[in-house]
Amino acid sequence: MFIGATPCTEWLDGQLAADDHGFLLTGDDVPPSALDHPGQQPLPLETSRPGVFCVGDARSRSIKRVATAIGEGSMAVRLVFDRLEAMGLAIADLDGADP
Ligand SMILES: Cc1cc2nc3c(=O)[nH]c(=O)nc-3n(C[C@H](O)[C@H](O)[C@H](O)COP(=O)(O)OP(=O)(O)OC[C@H]3O[C@@H](n4cnc5c(N)ncnc54)[C@H](O)[C@@H]3O)c2cc1C
Repeated sequence: MFIGATPCTEWLDGQLAADDHGFLLTGDDVPPSALDHPGQQPLPLETSRPGVFCVGDARSRSIKRVATAIGEGSMAVRLVFDRLEAMGLAIADLDGADP
């Protein structure tokens, strides 16, 4: 039956790039033509819209396991700071410190 294999992303109404099954594309998987800001390469876990990240099962090509969903969520915290810093909105100096 493959219960739970359909992502609940339809509410986004195409605002973020997704694969043919509705899983959101992130990082290098986002085609240049789908970028909200052409030329601005998404960070890992970042969607086609700068500053919007996707982790866990809803993300295209994710591993679909509890441990990886949690790990990606932890990574996203740092990556959000990286994006804000790149936009000049935050100073991220998280080395050795909890965000
Ligand atoms: C039958 C089955 C068995 C599995 N067995 C294992 C296993 O043995 N080991 C393992 O590691 N993994 C297993 N998995 C996979 C694991 O459950 C998932 O990888 C993990 O739960 C993903 O976490 P997530 O936070 O990305 O998504 P989810 O746990 O699916 O959480 C997403 C949440 O968002 C909510 N949501 C959806 N849309 C909206 C919305 N518009 N607004 C607000 N909330 C919304 C949903 O209700 C849900 O609570 C199994 C999955 C299934 C379906």
